[in-house]
Amino acid sequence: MCFDGVMQVVELRKWSVRCEPDLTREAYALMDSGSAEACGCEECFNFAATRHLVYTPKVLELLEWLGIDPLLEAEARHDACLGGGRHGYTVCFYLVGEIASGPATPVARAGARTAASLESAGEGSAVGFCTGDDPPEAFKGLPVVCLEVALTVPWVSNAPEPELTG
Ligand SMILES: [Zn+2]
Repeated sequence: MCFDGVMQVVELRKWSVRCEPDLTREAYALMDSGSAEACGCEECFNFAATRHLVYTPKVLELLEWLGIDPLLEAEARHDACLGGGRHGYTVCFYLVGEIASGPATPVARAGARTAASLESAGEGSAVGFCTGDDPPEAFKGLPVVCLEVALTVPWVSNAPEPELTG
């Protein structure tokens, strides 16, 4: 594997991830919108409207450190209706690097968000890494790791809230 920038290692719970924040920043500079804008469904519209509210300082600090632009997620998936106007989402960001040790499969799923598999990042959010299988075009040809962020998001859209699915 050929890296040009300054290699960093992030240790997070069960993961050790080699990453290239400078190359990651360059890739984000090539992107112009997050997946929530590109999709257009109500769940994504709601996420785009609340995006500036939902990341904890701890998550924002991690994204900044990794070279990730918090506005440019690769995927924002609505996982569950939690009741009381709250919704569980999993948001994926790619970064340039590789998982040196730790699990490579996605772990942030509905029902698993309270599991010990993710590192808590405060206020009901949690983060973890996986290999990811659908990086944005800006990352094509680069070694990538996917950062999963499990979030609790309020429903602010004027559209009807999705039904409780448990
Ligand atoms: Zn959508």
